[in-house]
Formats: sequence, structure tokens, C-alpha cells
Amino acid sequence: MTQQTQFVVAVVDDDAAIRRLVSLFLRRAGYDVIEVATGEAARSRLGVESWNLAILDRKLPDLDGLDLCREIKADPRFRNRYVIMLTGEADEQDKIEGLDLGADDYITKPFQYKELLARIRAGKRIVDLQSELLESNRRLELLSITDGLTRLYNHRHFQDEMVRAFDESQRYQRPLSLAIIDIDFFKKVNDTYGHAAGDDVLKTVARLFMDSVRSTDLVARYGGEEFTVMMPETDMGDAIAFAEKIRTLVEQTTIETQAGPVRVTVSIGVSSVPATPIQTPKEMIVAADKALYRAKRGGRNQVQAEKRKDLTRVILETA
Ligand code: GH3
Ligand code: MG
Ligand code: MG
Repeated sequence: MTQQTQFVVAVVDDDAAIRRLVSLFLRRAGYDVIEVATGEAARSRLGVESWNLAILDRKLPDLDGLDLCREIKADPRFRNRYVIMLTGEADEQDKIEGLDLGADDYITKPFQYKELLARIRAGKRIVDLQSELLESNRRLELLSITDGLTRLYNHRHFQDEMVRAFDESQRYQRPLSLAIIDIDFFKKVNDTYGHAAGDDVLKTVARLFMDSVRSTDLVARYGGEEFTVMMPETDMGDAIAFAEKIRTLVEQTTIETQAGPVRVTVSIGVSSVPATPIQTPKEMIVAADKALYRAKRGGRNQVQAEKRKDLTRVILETA
């Protein structure tokens, strides 16, 4: 499908003859058309069907086209839509009012189809430009929260989401767990196989994590060779089981890198709320980090959960 045929114009007019004629011209010009006869029908159909530009008759049988225009312009779902008001009155005041209320353009009956088509083309240029802007904003937004190497969420986004999830868990007294995963002796991987192979390992373990979590979990690259998995609605027992599954999976996976196959293991620290004295997201991160440190000291390639002893220290340190 070309861009032209994907552009949908909604023609909202109670006059069937005008509707037909306008639709005919628009279809001939390559646009898709939705025909709507009343304000109520417009309210319901424009909410569910996809459209880009609406031609709204000012005088609809059941409501003022201007009110409909105002509703459309105030609705965040219709952020990138273009509205041309159509009126029988060549009243200057009317036009000004319409434009002030958010109409993008105004055309008076009787009108020349050439003019209408030209105005639609102008509208389409603006809609297309806005779409590009929205799309590139969306891409930038995504880029700003993504880690370039692994495509996981980055540290900053993890922190933001952690605060949000923690608040939610506190408010509704729902469980929340956190796992911090650190690759064991990763420096040696780099030293032995080279930095590029090290990068391959990071990418592969990131993928292993992504493929192992639930859709509501959030996996992030926390630092160089450290990852976090935030697990809403997951208590300590389930979080430990998940961490153990991940640990085993990594241990059993042969990672193909540009320098040949590489095997690594991971150490994991887990913390959970509620049912622990943890009071802030920061405490929760520090608690998981302490548990991770214990896993490292305990010989690596293992899972450790926070302990009360850790927490007393955590709370003292973060106070
Ligand atoms: P431990 O078992 O105690 O975690 O030992 P380790 O060697 O994994 O830990 P250490 O913190 O000493 O070293 C981490 C290494 O990770 C050092 C650093 O060069 C490497 N690293 C960090 N980011 C990247 C990256 O983006 N790519 C690669 N290839 N290596 C990275
Ligand atoms: Mg580390
Ligand atoms: Mg490490």
C-alpha cells in the first residue's frame, strides 16, 4: 500500500449528497474515506476506526460541529489528527471561532473540489510531518532508556522503574523481588578471548535472561557485566527459584563468540519485599548487592538471598 492510500479522511456531514460527492472526489484522488452522517455516529466511529483527517460539517443535526471539533482536539488519542471545518456560512466570525477552537483549517460551502483537495494535501503534509516527529521522538525516548550493546534497559531506566514498582508494591502490599546478576571472573574472559568476544558473551547472557523472564519482569544492564531482574508479584521463594534456574541455564550454555566457544557462570543476589524490613528501593538494591557479595565470597556460581544481618547493615548504611 502506498502512503497515499493509507491516508484516511473522515467526512462528517448530514447532507448525503455532499458526503457522496466529497467521498467520490477523495477516493478518486487516492484517499480512503469514512462517511459519517451524525455527530453521535462520529463520536463513536472516530474513536474506534483509524483516520488521519476529518472534514466536519459545522451544522450537524444533533450537535454543533465545533463542539465535536473541540472534543477531538482535547482527546489525547487524536494527537496527530487534522480537522477541516465545513460551513455554509461565509461568516468571518464563524471562521475565527472555529480556528480558535482548534480546527486546523476552514472551508465554506459552496466550495471548489480543487480547493478542498489542495487543503487536504496541505493537511496531509502537516500530518505526515507530525507523524515523523512523533516517531523520531519515540525512537529517541526508547534509545535514552536502552543499553546499546545488549538492547536491555539501561541503569537509569531500571532505577526509575524500581522506584515506581516499589511504590506500587508498598501501596498495594504486593510482593516484589530483585535479582542482581554478576558474571563470574569476567575480566578473565576479556583477557583470554578479547574484549569483542566479551561483548558477545554479554549479548548472549542478556538474551538468555530476556528469554527466561515473565513479560511483567524488567531486565536491565546494571553495569559492565552486571544485570538486574526486577520481578513484580514475586515473593522471595519464587525469586530464588528463578535465580537458580537462570544460574543453571548460564552454567549449561556454551556461548558462541567470534573467538570460539566460551563458558561462564554467574553469581546472583536476591532481595524481596514485603516480609522484610526493607523500606526504600535503595535499600532493596543494596540488600541484593550484599547477597551477591556473599555469593561471590562463598565461591561464585551460586544464588544468595538477603539476610536479616545484611538488612540491619543496609538500613544503617542507607539511613
Ligand atoms: P567477579 O567474579 O568478582 O565478578 O570477577 P570479574 O572479573 O567478573 O569482576 P571485575 O569487576 O573485576 O571485572 C569486570 C570486568 O568486566 C572488567 C571490565 O573490563 C569488564 N567489562 C565491563 N563492561 C564491559 C563491556 O561492555 N564489554 C566487555 N567486553 N567487558 C566489559
Ligand atoms: Mg562486577
Ligand atoms: Mg563479575
